[in-house]
Amino acid sequence: MSKLLTLALSKGRIFEETLPLLQAAGITMAESPETSRKLILPTSSPDLRVIIVRASDVPTYVQYGAADLGLAGSDVLMEHGLAGLYVPQGLRIARCRLSVAVPEGFDYEHAVRQGARLRVATKYVEAAREHFAGKGVHVDLIKLYGSMELAPLVGLADAIVDLVSTGGTLRANKLVEVEQIVDVSSRLVVNQAALKLKRAALAPLLAAFAEAVRRREGAAA
Ligand code: ADP
Ligand code: MG
Repeated sequence: MSKLLTLALSKGRIFEETLPLLQAAGITMAESPETSRKLILPTSSPDLRVIIVRASDVPTYVQYGAADLGLAGSDVLMEHGLAGLYVPQGLRIARCRLSVAVPEGFDYEHAVRQGARLRVATKYVEAAREHFAGKGVHVDLIKLYGSMELAPLVGLADAIVDLVSTGGTLRANKLVEVEQIVDVSSRLVVNQAALKLKRAALAPLLAAFAEAVRRREGAAA
């Protein structure tokens, strides 16, 4: 492993919400991954580079040490597991919740009381299995990789388990949220070996992130 630190980020919401934290740590990026096609991006710090990966792949890059640290949603970590990862702190960014939603007019509570077997479409099969097992509801889980909202509209599923923040996407597709499973936000994940071998380089960055989060919470309070 080199002296250089590699930070794994995903495009979109997590990148947008991480930029201010990097800035507070004194780190800026010359190129945005939204416009650049490069997947390895330098930063203003000669000791830190950013790699752009799919959100669900962040824990994998960090677990194998291809990235020293990364930002991953707690939803992604629930599915992936924490092997090989050190999770120092929640960053309280990209906050939303994992919920069960059904089409308007579908009586979910009634179906559950009747002991009906529900078909549930989701990207989050592990979290969904645990949730419904805990309630004693029988489900057939259908794994999807995106656009979960479509599944009940075309008869693929009775319900979905997906992330909800404003509820706008659900409303646009005539779905209603019937159960909240868990709150979701982003976590910093660090490779356990890097934590020991690159402690000198990592410590100031982790401290700067923690301080940026503290300051922002203070400002919000
Ligand atoms: P992908 O399209 O690769 O599946 P997304 O960009 O939809 O990934 O989501 C990446 C991460 O952003 C998720 O793992 C989650 O932690 C967070 N996220 C997704 N949707 C929302 C939302 N509506 N509000 C806040 N955070 C979200
Ligand atoms: Mg998405």
